[in-house]
Amino acid sequence: MTSSETIRDTANHLATASAGRREQAVRAAVEQGLIGTGEPVTGLLDVEGIRNSAAELRHAFEETTAPGTPVLHAFAVKAGSLVPVLRLLAAEGLGCEVASPGELALARAAGVPASRTVLDSPAKTTDELREALGLGIAVNADNPQELERIDALVGNEPAPAPIGLRVNPQVGAGSIEALSTATATSKFGVALRDEGARDRVVRAYLDRPWMTRLHAHVGSQGVALERMADGVRETYELAEEINAAAGRQQIDTVNIGGGLPVNFASDEATPTFHDYARVLRDTVPGLFDGRYGLITEFGRSLLAKHGLVLARVEYAKSAGGRPIAVTHAGAQLATRTVYAPDAWPIRVACFDSAGRPKQGPPVVQDVAGPCCFAGDLVAEGRELPMLEAGDLAALLDTGAYYFSHHFAYNSLPRPAVHGFRTDPEAPGGVRFAPARSAQTTAEIVAESGGEHRDALVRHL
Ligand SMILES: *Cc1c(COP(=O)(O)O)cnc(C)c1O
Repeated sequence: MTSSETIRDTANHLATASAGRREQAVRAAVEQGLIGTGEPVTGLLDVEGIRNSAAELRHAFEETTAPGTPVLHAFAVKAGSLVPVLRLLAAEGLGCEVASPGELALARAAGVPASRTVLDSPAKTTDELREALGLGIAVNADNPQELERIDALVGNEPAPAPIGLRVNPQVGAGSIEALSTATATSKFGVALRDEGARDRVVRAYLDRPWMTRLHAHVGSQGVALERMADGVRETYELAEEINAAAGRQQIDTVNIGGGLPVNFASDEATPTFHDYARVLRDTVPGLFDGRYGLITEFGRSLLAKHGLVLARVEYAKSAGGRPIAVTHAGAQLATRTVYAPDAWPIRVACFDSAGRPKQGPPVVQDVAGPCCFAGDLVAEGRELPMLEAGDLAALLDTGAYYFSHHFAYNSLPRPAVHGFRTDPEAPGGVRFAPARSAQTTAEIVAESGGEHRDALVRHL
């Protein structure tokens, strides 16, 4: 077998193993009472799967970079904003890419050191910049106005942390407009192809000898690998141009962003990190010859396949001849899928009340959530084994951007999230550990202004 066949074979093997662990975990979650009448919805995370993906990412770049090249894989915290998840990834050697004070606090709570954290948001306040630089966290400025704020903070001192500028190579959109960061009119970074912009960027670096990094983030769901690699090539060429103008290796690190697309159609994790690293090395060999350190910022591709939402079917009804399973997972957990079903279709797997995979002929049905609006469907007209009250609907590939991005519609609570790993010693062969507790109704009241109950009638 060629090495790419070996990788493909390993990917298939991992996909089958991952599906096997998932089925075992659903069964064990029922047996151990993590899902049922008292807990009608819960999130599950496959810790072994996450570790495998992190290891695959590390290997892919170890294999493609010159020996000794510093590479930091900074996990994009927004894709899975749970402290234990960040801690797990840190244990696998990853850092964090943060884009808000909240995300920075999560990374710090997880014990991720400043030297492995990168701050990237498009709307940083002066206070945020001061805090980040004070902590020694690398900052990528989004635009020239932000650079001026940083100038004022740095003054004539040596920069307290690595500082870079985000550019938009404007290589074009992918298939999902809302996620395409490199369009001509994207809100992110300095638009490189705009008139005079490139020269202004080079000048900005020459004026600031302490600016040592260059940042772009082209990829996302729906963007082809070749387009992502084109964006990285443009970024690399700019780094070369700046270094030539400076007469030294001023830019020592290129931050190539993230965004490997995820396959939501089957268990196979394609494209792989190896696929992408190879396309990158073939497209931009100079970036891999050891002169530049690299920072990556993958999010979705590290977690998506390793999480699922498990929801009880509360009622199974029929309307206009269409069977409808009313479950406890809808727009509050699968917000993008419900509002943009064509861009974000997800797989639904059906289990009986004991957590066994449901058999039976496929029946066209809707899988609905608990929210009080008609469009709250996670699957519409889908062929699935007939779901009945008490069954479980599993929303697959929801480990990134789903349960970590709760949408408080109808004041529905954030569900618990449990990490799991197989363990022959544990009941049902699966051991669980909490990654987040379920939100209580008392917490919902507190978050909803409960302490200010009389404010509007008494104080105004
Ligand atoms: C969201 C984001 C990422 C990660 O994108 P994924 O599609 O989740 O991998 C990386 N870098 C930046 C700057 C981002 O905003």
